[in-house]
Amino acid sequence: MEEAAQGAINLNNSGLSILEISHRSADFTAIIQEAEQLVRELLGVSDDYAVLFLSGGASSQFFMVPMNLLGEGDMAAYLDTGSWSSKAIKEAKLFGKVEVLASSKPDNYNYIPKEFAIPTNAKYLHLTSNNTIYGTQYQWWPETNIPLISDMSSDIFSRPIDVQKFGLIYAGAQKNMGPAGVTLVIVRKDLIGKSGRTLPSMLDYQTHIEGESLYNTPPVFPIYVSMLTLRWIKKMGGLAAVKKINEDKAKLLYDEIDANPLFKGTAAIDDRSRMNVTFVMPEQDLEKSFLKACEEAGCVELKGHRSVGGFRASIYNAMPLEGIQTLVNVMRDYAEKHD
Ligand SMILES: *Cc1c(COP(=O)(O)O)cnc(C)c1O
Repeated sequence: MEEAAQGAINLNNSGLSILEISHRSADFTAIIQEAEQLVRELLGVSDDYAVLFLSGGASSQFFMVPMNLLGEGDMAAYLDTGSWSSKAIKEAKLFGKVEVLASSKPDNYNYIPKEFAIPTNAKYLHLTSNNTIYGTQYQWWPETNIPLISDMSSDIFSRPIDVQKFGLIYAGAQKNMGPAGVTLVIVRKDLIGKSGRTLPSMLDYQTHIEGESLYNTPPVFPIYVSMLTLRWIKKMGGLAAVKKINEDKAKLLYDEIDANPLFKGTAAIDDRSRMNVTFVMPEQDLEKSFLKACEEAGCVELKGHRSVGGFRASIYNAMPLEGIQTLVNVMRDYAEKHD
């Protein structure tokens, strides 16, 4: 934050702010190139893929993906594991046929479906790697020869990813990568330009590949702060180290949820998210006073999404282990006082 603030005042001692320099200046070119380089290095992205910094949020990728990859009459397969998946499905239907291979909706999305057949004529298989609202996360990838596409908005850079398995990965920056306003897209270049559609330039991946994310003015400040965040991840030891920290954090909290009789996890154990931990209190009338106890200890933003209720601890990369320890202590104290 302090580095970002400094960049907003006086970038690299140039006397100018990141907010006033040209996006074609040498200073900004160096920033966007370093950001791309860090994405490639941290995730192990080969030259077969383009790394793009776009605007419009992950929600715009819900339509850009089918618009660019699905021809008229083509079919795409989707896995429905939450409200973000279902929004992606809704948009895809505007551009082609969609087969939903499996859905955990009847169980309020509390697990990741594992039994489904993947049609070989599908152009791609889309999944949401981490279901932010429901607290579930893929700990495996479907085995298939068709390109996998994943919305990784809420767990990108939280663990190593075998990018080779994917045709396209996208993520809004605002959970793990940087501030709202930039969307990371990693796309295998050979998939582009085959839909037979004529697309508006701004909605065509090819435009942004050719323009190296500088076809129009990109979101310069979010890209700058993302680059600083990626440097921080690299300094921590890269994604293997980050994964270990995230596993330790999640284990600390889930262990308490499982041991403390006042709390109950909502997601299937095998599919538990290491980014969003969702839980409820079986004695629902205690939820209000527990939330108050959390707030008094400085643990905020814990109220669960209305479709799940209870609590959601979003423990993205920026949340230190000590923050989780504080929450666990509040849970223990609360249970002791309750007895
Ligand atoms: C937050 C989130 C989104 C929404 O992203 P926007 O950038 O706001 O459009 C999409 N998918 C997932 C999995 C998310 O967590």
